[in-house]
Amino acid sequence: MKAFKPHLQGLPSYPYRKVEAPVKLDQNESPYELPAELKTEVLRRLQALAFNRYPDLHAEEVRARLSAWLGWPAEGLVLSPGSNLLIQALAQAASRVLDTAPAFPHYAFSARMAGTPYQAVRLKPGFALPKEALLEALDGPPGVFFLPNPHAPTGQLFAEEDLEELAEKARAAGWIFVVDEAYHQFSGTDLAGLARRNPQVALLRTFSKAWGLGGVRAGYLMAAPEVARVVQNFIPPFGLPAHTAAVLLTVLEAPGYVDEAVARIVAERNRLLEALQRHPTWRAYPSWTNFLLVRTPEAAQAFQGLLQRGILVRRQDQYPMLEGCIRVTVGTREENDRFLEAAFALAEVPHA
Ligand SMILES: *Cc1c(COP(=O)(O)O)cnc(C)c1O
Repeated sequence: MKAFKPHLQGLPSYPYRKVEAPVKLDQNESPYELPAELKTEVLRRLQALAFNRYPDLHAEEVRARLSAWLGWPAEGLVLSPGSNLLIQALAQAASRVLDTAPAFPHYAFSARMAGTPYQAVRLKPGFALPKEALLEALDGPPGVFFLPNPHAPTGQLFAEEDLEELAEKARAAGWIFVVDEAYHQFSGTDLAGLARRNPQVALLRTFSKAWGLGGVRAGYLMAAPEVARVVQNFIPPFGLPAHTAAVLLTVLEAPGYVDEAVARIVAERNRLLEALQRHPTWRAYPSWTNFLLVRTPEAAQAFQGLLQRGILVRRQDQYPMLEGCIRVTVGTREENDRFLEAAFALAEVPHA
């Protein structure tokens, strides 16, 4: 494999394996389909679309609509088919990448793919923000610092004043502080104000979770225009497909369904968390997202036991600090009941 750069030798694949199960709680998707009238409107627009023509160069129409909806300048927005691609773009452009351990694995994976120097700072016990250690890391030569808030995969929400302090440090030291707000609707938080005050702060957002559009593939970056320009150059021209744009334009005209879905998911999340407090051996951590991180005596056993009962979750025990952990996406009420029933039934099974 001499044709490829030496750092690409022995690279792992993205940690995901497709498994079929009746109750799918493994990808933090919304359990709700797009409301039927919106889907009909999307289909109407697709019918009218000329499939032989290229879409906008940089999703100009969607960016203009999104800019008006967010109150964020269009020159500071980058659209892409999934925010994962924006993470890759940032990791490619970065002089170095900093994140936490654990964190959303795509930051480390993208840094490695790009051959970009990478450093991770461990979370503190209880998955607390390691503020001092991060401030120290930000004293080094600058790069891109990724932090999910709410945090994935722990579900924690960090204090805004601490993020403000990290952002100040990033500004002083020349870092770009990328806050990944993939789950911000479920915490009711929004760091746009911080990003507006501090041009070294950029925000990542996705349509895959609260918007219920995981299959559509769309995400965006909110940044200062100079940052957006660099990231945009790493997204191929005409990179946002016309059909994706049609979906986004439709939902941006009628975004009210998102709040409804979020309210239901948050209520279910809190119900799950409370119910799991009575579990004899599993411990669920509080969450500000649409998933729960659950510590079990043995993750492989919990995963298999749930799967045998038709419920698919995601193992997290391969990551630092997450021994025995599984991640459970909040589903519909019925799906959550089935999960709870299985979780309590498993407690009856003696551990090997
Ligand atoms: C789900 C998720 C994303 C979204 O990725 P897409 O490519 O937009 O689907 C980004 N960051 C985090 C932390 C996530 O959990």
